[in-house]
Amino acid sequence: MAKSPKARAAVASQVAAAGMPPLQFCALPPAPPKVFDEVVTGDRLASINLFGRLWANGTEITYYLFDKGSFAGSPADRQATEDAFAAWKSHGIGLTFKQVATPKGAMLRIGYLAGDGSWSFVGNDNLLSKSAGERTMNFGWSLTTPHGRDTALHEIGHALGLSHEHQNPNAGIVWNEPNVRQYFAGPPNNWTQSQIEHNILTKLDARDAAGSSWDQNSVMHYQFPAGRISRPERYLTRPLIPAGGLSRLDIKWVKQSYPPLKSSAPPSLSRFQSELVAAAAGDVSQFEVRPTETGKFTVRLFGDSDATLLLYEVAPNGDQRYIAGASDAGNKANSEITERLEAGKTYLVKVMVIYAPAPKALSVMYW
Ligand SMILES: [Zn+2]
Repeated sequence: MAKSPKARAAVASQVAAAGMPPLQFCALPPAPPKVFDEVVTGDRLASINLFGRLWANGTEITYYLFDKGSFAGSPADRQATEDAFAAWKSHGIGLTFKQVATPKGAMLRIGYLAGDGSWSFVGNDNLLSKSAGERTMNFGWSLTTPHGRDTALHEIGHALGLSHEHQNPNAGIVWNEPNVRQYFAGPPNNWTQSQIEHNILTKLDARDAAGSSWDQNSVMHYQFPAGRISRPERYLTRPLIPAGGLSRLDIKWVKQSYPPLKSSAPPSLSRFQSELVAAAAGDVSQFEVRPTETGKFTVRLFGDSDATLLLYEVAPNGDQRYIAGASDAGNKANSEITERLEAGKTYLVKVMVIYAPAPKALSVMYW
């Protein structure tokens, strides 16, 4: 007896599911907890969740690819990593990426240790790891296959501030939890139960999600064989396989989070003269500082806003070198940086607003 089209489709998808190669997926390390010294709720918490881990737009993110020692990657895998940075950059975003030759001072330090999985720190959490010998990202398998190329895009997506799309609480996924646990506890992932919870089963805070209802084609979404998702019911009998590469919504997110910069010379900041930072959450203001003497200087924010304060040195060729950063998100105190600055050099002070209770609620000064 001929099977109905529906039954044929179900058989076809079971065959497809059975034929899915057992892939390895990204396993994020636990994130450092957000520490607030005040009770932070409502709009303020939402704003901190949304903007607190993003880089200040305009940042030149320096990255080092390990090419010697136990973390060293093959030339092909290092090239695939460079290609993935270029793919994110190709959408005209305000961030830039610059490969550097030594791990010291690099914001991202990327290793290729097989057997250690693929993972990355998320967004500006990367700056918390300062030791030149430590990785902020690792690739545990070849990046030259289609899955490997997506892995490179995925980990860089985390480094830019993205979370796992299948943990988006707006997705409405109902997991077949025993099946998910069994599948990812087995080879080739061999995850612990807490890794499975951290990377799949735990729903993100609604406000940590990038804003989409559910982007099944996001490069931040894993593949799932049939039977791991109970709802939507179609995934009981067919696998969920993202299209591969950056999705339309991945691109929309990165362009919204890091819009192209308007090229205008930053206003200068004079010693002991406070300047208003007129910006909404997510906006970045820049000020140029040219000290006339060498010594220790303090840059500080004033006001009720939550913000990140960043200090850069500008080289004669225009390159920016990150010196220090401080965030007061969720804290009463205002961000402050004290560093030795040299006469004759040019510095940039950047202020990224994370939460603004009122317009013009923030100013910056140095002395
Ligand atoms: Zn991931």
